[in-house]
Amino acid sequence: MNGLKKSFKRFLFLAILHIFSSCTAQSNSFWNGKQCAVVLTYDDSLKEHLENVIPSLNKHNLKATFYIIGSSEAFVNRKIDWKDAAKKGHELGNHTLMHPCANIQKRKVQLPPEKDLNNYSLQKVVDEIKITNNLLHQIDGKSERTFAFPCGQTKVNDTLFYPYVKNNFVGARGVKRAMKYVEEVELENINAYGMKGHTGVEMIELVKQAMSKNKLLVFLFHGVGGGSSLNVEMAEHDKLVDFLAINKNKIWVAPMVEVAKFVKTNKQSINK
Ligand SMILES: [Zn+2]
Repeated sequence: MNGLKKSFKRFLFLAILHIFSSCTAQSNSFWNGKQCAVVLTYDDSLKEHLENVIPSLNKHNLKATFYIIGSSEAFVNRKIDWKDAAKKGHELGNHTLMHPCANIQKRKVQLPPEKDLNNYSLQKVVDEIKITNNLLHQIDGKSERTFAFPCGQTKVNDTLFYPYVKNNFVGARGVKRAMKYVEEVELENINAYGMKGHTGVEMIELVKQAMSKNKLLVFLFHGVGGGSSLNVEMAEHDKLVDFLAINKNKIWVAPMVEVAKFVKTNKQSINK
């Protein structure tokens, strides 16, 4: 009887151990073996990205995504620097050629007619996006990249334009704030948290939330240490970068193209 009791206890112990270890294995495999994924994205190809952000990320061997406006000054005049950034593993994402946005009444400064998305045809948006992909290909030689919607706008007049360029991208980043599980991520409009005047503590708090919930967190920066009215101070950005670097074993920090590919593969395997 005692022997039976003993073997039952052992069975129970092994069963619990099995359940526990399979849970652990699952929690380790959420995001490329890490607790969560963090994507750092920087919009509008500003010179501050080259001068402030990239050196700071390189120091910690962290890779990010830079959404490039094909006609912007800091892209056209500094192609060698962008090429160097791509060589170091950063993604050059597509943010169109002219960055058209629809003029809406609440906009403080109205855009000139040639940059007003209301004046665009569907074909013109599609052409600008494809031209920018060609420009970026000349710089980094890559055929896989992601897109970011200028001003977060997804439609030209009433038509969603991304379906017309979708085959050229692994995914597209939007501007709506949310964190998602792998299976919930919408690759045609990936959620992101726009940063403006945020402190390092506030940004780290978002990362901690993503870690505890095993979700994807995408940061959307414009100016860092200057360059835009949507600015984050350099010292605050450094605090975030330090935290990500210290916790590399728990946080998967990667360019959007890699994370979007991971999501695609995992969604396919879930749906099988
Ligand atoms: Zn932009």
